[in-house]
Amino acid sequence: MILMEDVGKWYGDFHVLQDINLKISAGERIVVCGPSGSGKSTLIRCLNRLEHHQTGRIVVNGVELTDRIRQLSGPLSEIGMVFQGFNLFPHLTILENCTLAPLTVRKMKRKDAEAKAMAFLERVKIPDQASKYPGQLSGGQQQRAAIARALCMSPKVMLFDEPTSALDPEMVKEVLDTMVGLAQDGMTMIVVTHEMGFARQVADRVIFMDKGRIVEENNPQDFFENPANERSKLFLSQLL
Ligand code: ATP
Ligand code: MG
Repeated sequence: MILMEDVGKWYGDFHVLQDINLKISAGERIVVCGPSGSGKSTLIRCLNRLEHHQTGRIVVNGVELTDRIRQLSGPLSEIGMVFQGFNLFPHLTILENCTLAPLTVRKMKRKDAEAKAMAFLERVKIPDQASKYPGQLSGGQQQRAAIARALCMSPKVMLFDEPTSALDPEMVKEVLDTMVGLAQDGMTMIVVTHEMGFARQVADRVIFMDKGRIVEENNPQDFFENPANERSKLFLSQLL
């Protein structure tokens, strides 16, 4: 479903991603962790073309990502993304946030788009917030709205970049519970997070990055209990 082959990326002279090789099958849940600045966000942003890689290959659902592929067209519309800062459109209601892309990109009928949006807002347990604006919601509600908005495009893969790190502790659980639900439904997920409870519960694999490289790739049990790499050990000892 996702293939990264010898992927390299530079910001100017800075080699931010080096020799990234990663293969992710449909239905897999991958947790990406590692120190600040190690390239985690850049890695997942390359998957939906918010950033462009310079060497190697990235293939999503059989389509190679090249400069010709435009944002939101073709395979990119099948990748949903949820950011740390929610990124909802502040001037649109929650329902309008959820229907915008289905109406414009998918050319869905308004009635169908709204019905679908309401179904996902039910699923993330905020149907009562549909006619409010993002600024009127709590952080946890905004993040669940952002998840619903992504799901409205029927993505085949969901990317999450530290979805709970901007939330107050009491709101973290409601967002993680939503993500666990998605995982149980079989969604393919790539999640940058330091929520180790989540990683243990749902991840098939944990990927540890350091200085732009994947330095360890392991099942959660071994990663947490018996990390192979010195850098992972140090990182985990600081976390726990
Ligand atoms: P964090 O845990 O803090 O979110 P990260 O692992 O997600 O870190 P990235 O955001 O991918 O790290 O950044 C990797 C490196 O690339 C950092 O050193 C960062 O300063 C640098 N970087 C990120 N974006 C840019 C940019 N647009 N231009 C130049 N350098 C950048
Ligand atoms: Mg980041």
